[in-house]
Amino acid sequence: MKRRSVYIVIFIVAILGLFFIQYKYLKIGVSLATVQFKKNIDVASKNIKNDLADENQLTFLVGKAITNDDTNFKLSIDSIQDASKYFLKDFISYRLKLNGIDTDFSYRLIAKDSSFSLKSPNQFNTSENLLTFPIQLKGYLPETAGKDTLLELQFKNINSYLLSQLNGLTIPSLLFMLIIIIIFIWFLRSIYWQRQVITTTNSFINNLTHELKTPVFSINLASKMLEKDLDTTKKPLLKIIRQQTERLNKHIDKVLELGKLEFQPKLFNLKKTDFKPNLIEICQNFETLSNLNNITFTYNLEEGSFLIKSEINHLENAISNILDNAQKYSENPIIKLNASKHKNQLLISISDNGVGINKKDKDLIFKKYYRVSNEDVHKVKGYGLGLSYVKEVVKKHKGKVKIDSNVGVGTIVTIFIPLIHEK
Ligand code: ADP
Repeated sequence: MKRRSVYIVIFIVAILGLFFIQYKYLKIGVSLATVQFKKNIDVASKNIKNDLADENQLTFLVGKAITNDDTNFKLSIDSIQDASKYFLKDFISYRLKLNGIDTDFSYRLIAKDSSFSLKSPNQFNTSENLLTFPIQLKGYLPETAGKDTLLELQFKNINSYLLSQLNGLTIPSLLFMLIIIIIFIWFLRSIYWQRQVITTTNSFINNLTHELKTPVFSINLASKMLEKDLDTTKKPLLKIIRQQTERLNKHIDKVLELGKLEFQPKLFNLKKTDFKPNLIEICQNFETLSNLNNITFTYNLEEGSFLIKSEINHLENAISNILDNAQKYSENPIIKLNASKHKNQLLISISDNGVGINKKDKDLIFKKYYRVSNEDVHKVKGYGLGLSYVKEVVKKHKGKVKIDSNVGVGTIVTIFIPLIHEK
């Protein structure tokens, strides 16, 4: 749960960082585009200036308009001025487009002493944030008017124009970020949902196993009471009942232990212990069992104490589980237990000469309920809980489990538990 929050925080920070970088890039992009825009205006201005310097159809008409001269025309001076306004606008627009500027603009053609002005048909509100580029005209027009003449180009909302030019980049990048966020949220939701399912399944299994305990206990008790009055011919039947209930009981305990580990982690109390005597006891018990069941079992424990922080019962169970597996998955078991100290760690390794585990299954067998799907193996009963229990217990001891295995040769399971420094 905690780790999940950390991931979420990291994700949010990463996304915010990405937004910030994006914003910075955008700013750089806009200022570069501004520089480019001004450069283009510069070139366009020069071209406009040159084109308006000579006498041609346009300058002739504009010249008439600014000097209020309607000779040579059948039109009124107002119509001449109107026509020249549109004519000039089209010409400027054409020149700007040639230089890569395709945005709304207006213009004013004015005398420096304000004695005349020809304004573009569209005019911007002066309260708007306008960008003005004055062009000092030369040649035909100032000469005709007999005055210094300026052509002022005006642009508004230049930033939104520049942004619109960058839209090709910003919109897709925002879109991709949005996709990432949506997928992340979807991912979190499905993890959360999955966790809920797992938790309910686990608590269901735990409740169920608890419920199973009572009938098993009753069967056990009843069979004990039956034993006294039963005639000898039926005793083997009773023995089967007792053996099977005992097995069932063990399975139930296994499930419950694992459940306890997962749901009540605080119950796990590590205490400073010399684990050697416990290990010897496990080995001696298993040796006795081995003698009865045709198993060759040897063990070798390094000299000295094995001082570790341990919850003894769980660690004992874990080792018993590994020994149990070694015997279960071997035909004529030769099992060795070896315990040694190496680099501040206690190493307990259990080897067998059994069927082995292939590479594909090696990581999976630590998962709860996982069993290798192999016809041979399924002759052996189990619920796939043993190794997940081992892993959980060893993890709680701040240790590790390692499996080396060769199919058909055997398996070595090693657990590493940190040793306490002896002073
Ligand atoms: P279970 O033994 O109840 O099936 P475990 O979690 O103890 O569950 O083991 C999971 C699987 O790992 C087993 O089904 C078995 O296929 C494989 N396995 C475990 N130990 C060994 C071993 N020593 N040799 C071969 N296979 C093993």
